[in-house]
Amino acid sequence: MRAEIISVGTELLLGEIIDTNAAFLSQELAALGIELYHRTTVGDNEQRLKQALIEALARADLVVTSGGLGPTADDLTKETVAAVLGLPLVLDRPSLLWIKEYFARMNKEMTVNNQKQAMIPAGGEALPNANGTAPGVLICKGEKVVVCLPGPPRELIPMFRSYVLPYLRTKSRGVIHSRVLRLCGVGESELVEEIADLLTDQTNPTLAPLASEGELRLRITARAQSEREAEALIGELEAKLRARLGHWIYGTDDDTLEAVVVKLLRTRGETLAVAESCTGGLLANRITDVPGASAVLERGLVTYSNRAKEELLQVPAAVIVAHGAVSGEVARYMAEGVRMSAGTDWGIGITGIAGPGGGSREKPVGLVYYALVGPGVNLVQKVHWSGDRVKIKRRTTQAVLDLLRRTLLATEA
Ligand code: ATP
Ligand code: MG
Repeated sequence: MRAEIISVGTELLLGEIIDTNAAFLSQELAALGIELYHRTTVGDNEQRLKQALIEALARADLVVTSGGLGPTADDLTKETVAAVLGLPLVLDRPSLLWIKEYFARMNKEMTVNNQKQAMIPAGGEALPNANGTAPGVLICKGEKVVVCLPGPPRELIPMFRSYVLPYLRTKSRGVIHSRVLRLCGVGESELVEEIADLLTDQTNPTLAPLASEGELRLRITARAQSEREAEALIGELEAKLRARLGHWIYGTDDDTLEAVVVKLLRTRGETLAVAESCTGGLLANRITDVPGASAVLERGLVTYSNRAKEELLQVPAAVIVAHGAVSGEVARYMAEGVRMSAGTDWGIGITGIAGPGGGSREKPVGLVYYALVGPGVNLVQKVHWSGDRVKIKRRTTQAVLDLLRRTLLATEA
């Protein structure tokens, strides 16, 4: 089965709202193994919606629309679908009753316009709206199926799950499943080189690399007759990938690097304190995003000025003068200072130049030093990032968390 989605709404074209309905529907259709090759966004305009429907119906067996089921004049999805399919609009009595009850419950006056919402293309099945007035509609005409859903996500999602999903389950064969492997500490080109053969040879499951801030993802997608069969296909390829890339893989699906690190520390019963300069607390922020972080993070200090580094971390003024605030020496003193005052197992110090000003030839924008000290561990790393302040901060915390993760994996608790 091949499907298309048409999102209706001028607000979508103006960028005033983001098309989360299309993303939701895409995911749901993919999970059903339904192929989706086109998605269209069209404004509240009858002529253009008509055109979009005609084109979609020429390519696909199933067309799902979102939006334009409301009571006002610019809500014209059902009318247009009826016209394109050559069906008259007829009154759906149960829907009218439902809308009347809805208004009675809300203690509101029902208008003539609201009656319009109870009209559906003849032969269609009205889909009750548990969270609003406009019913959806499912219409089969010949080989084609058109489903019209309301725009508000809190109406569309439950309606899809209650009425459309069960219907599509009976129609479609097979499932599509995917798993994401999350990698850190490797560049995209290096990764692609490492798995070049798998990237080209694989047709089922398929393998797709995706790059985002300071990390890479590999999505494995399998198509099969059953969930179990799809999982088996994914598992086979995942094992191959882990054998080659294991040291770079920190997690799967929704895992975050900070959650993985917190978990590692928690299992070891160890604690951490961080002293941040250029990252301004982002590292501590990311760690505290993880539930249960309090068992691990003792404190995080933002020591932005030289004075803060001296007063709170006992970084000797002479070291700052001799090497500069952005130096490996200062990073190490920061890590040791915060570890000492907090009495934790691990200490981290970060200092760098996030730009856009403040750089020099010897110390350009993007230069960052970070240090990790702990039992038998005393590491300082120097990196030079490109990008703006936000990127530099994000990448630094990513690299620091990954260093801690690797160090924990490499050392005995
Ligand atoms: P209503 O009865 O509220 O008019 P409707 O079915 O006519 O519903 P629209 O008028 O197109 O739907 O959109 C109503 C609201 O629903 C929008 O203002 C927006 O908040 C939300 N919405 C519409 N389409 C989408 C979409 N594709 N993704 C996310 N939200 C949407
Ligand atoms: Mg509307």
